Amino acid sequence: MAFKLAIIGRPNVGKSTLFNRLAGRRLAIVDDTPGVTRDRRSHPAKLQDLRFEVIDTAGLESAAAPTLEGRMRAQTEIAIDEADIALFVIDARAGVMPDDSTFADLLRRKGKPVVLVANKTDVNAAAAGVIDAWGLGLGDPVAISAEHGLGMSDLRDAIVEALGEDVALAEETEPVAMPGEEIAVGEDVDPEAEEAPYDATKPLRIAVMGRPNVGKSTLINALIGQDRMLTGPEAGITRDSISVDWEWRGRKIKLFDTAGLRRKARVQAKLEKLSVADGIRAARFAEVVIIVFDATIPFEKQDLQIADLVIREGRAPVIAFNKWDLIEDRQEMLAELREKTERLLPQVRGLQAVPISAETGRGLDKLLEAVEKTHRTWNSRVSTGRLNRWLEGATAQHPPPAVAGRRLKVKYITQIKTRPPGFVVSCSRPDAMPQSYVRYLVNGLRETFNLFGVPIRVALRTSD
Ligand code: GDP
Ligand code: GDP
Repeated sequence: MAFKLAIIGRPNVGKSTLFNRLAGRRLAIVDDTPGVTRDRRSHPAKLQDLRFEVIDTAGLESAAAPTLEGRMRAQTEIAIDEADIALFVIDARAGVMPDDSTFADLLRRKGKPVVLVANKTDVNAAAAGVIDAWGLGLGDPVAISAEHGLGMSDLRDAIVEALGEDVALAEETEPVAMPGEEIAVGEDVDPEAEEAPYDATKPLRIAVMGRPNVGKSTLINALIGQDRMLTGPEAGITRDSISVDWEWRGRKIKLFDTAGLRRKARVQAKLEKLSVADGIRAARFAEVVIIVFDATIPFEKQDLQIADLVIREGRAPVIAFNKWDLIEDRQEMLAELREKTERLLPQVRGLQAVPISAETGRGLDKLLEAVEKTHRTWNSRVSTGRLNRWLEGATAQHPPPAVAGRRLKVKYITQIKTRPPGFVVSCSRPDAMPQSYVRYLVNGLRETFNLFGVPIRVALRTSD
């Protein structure tokens, strides 16, 4: 479905930067001769798998309004009326300004779907601005950096959340290739961070990644069943992501794959070279990524790189140790592999790692159980009350260090997002807080609230 999107916000928040990113090219700043009424303009734009029109607000002149402010307001109104959805951008670095509230009121009155976007979160000081943005009453802000392309997966998800699933996956008609697109890494704020219970009716989105020959295609075909194997697409060359829907124990699953299905589609082998980049793309659509290791040659450098990437992307990782049928001392081997997982991937403690044989089908149910469990953890939310009761104990037991003779203080913690869980900790001197203490807090959060096996984000902000 094609839809129209308007980017709204006061000057300097980064609207043009976002516009250019979505419209995919550097548009010259058009001259703004006052009083010249131009056609309303919109440009084709894309955000990952989404295709839409982005309205160029600057092209919306209203000769009737004499003042700059009046014109801006009129432009904004026209854009909102014309759009199916508004991205309301604030500058998280600057925090919420009075003009932002004016725009927020206008948007609320219009009643169109709105996604609140906190931009410039590449800057350290932005966490507080993201929190401020909650106060606008327009839902959870999506933290992005328009300039650096961060948070684009979350922005995509928030748009889909606001407009419904049919806007997603325009894959039948257009390629999803995003040449040169940066991978969103780091802080991301979840569109669904409302206190929503885990929703098992929604399709669970899975991607399979791994280096060549670990058994990805075999696994995918085992999961979806031979009879459901895709025969196409010869068009796989232009098509960059494919999803297959199926059900497991009544749970809807959408499996994203690229290289694996293509191989079975007999597309030339040289395309296989692209498989890691393809996997990355598939991972963006996914919630859970199954990272396939070959149990007979585990923990190659590339295996670890892929795992690290999935974790940095904030996806929920599950490791499958494949070709288990070839292993002899299974008990021993499993203990060894799990120990290595903890040691070599310390970013995420308690990673789910399941032995499977894609060829015989052994272990696939266990794998999907691990996928669902990890997905639940990835979605989990801890109340502020529980968090702060824990924080009090944790800081009493192991107080933060002193810097230049003054003890750092950790005052307050709140969970600002899920998918994966993200927390903001208020403390006296974020800049002076040692990483080791942040790790102590992350470990404590994991153990106390059972957040094993998923990435955890912690941002520090200054307490006033
Ligand atoms: P507009 O007036 O809302 O269209 O804002 P612009 O897109 O012109 O951006 C205003 C300023 O903010 C420019 O100097 C941009 O380079 C800067 N900017 C935009 N996005 C970001 C971002 O994500 N991070 C940082 N640090 N600066 C940004
Ligand atoms: P991909 O490149 O990751 O998609 O790997 P493939 O699915 O093409 O598998 C690579 C090779 O490993 C093929 O020869 C498969 O038959 C073999 N293979 C895949 N899974 C298993 C398994 O569970 N056990 C054994 N013994 N071989 C497997």
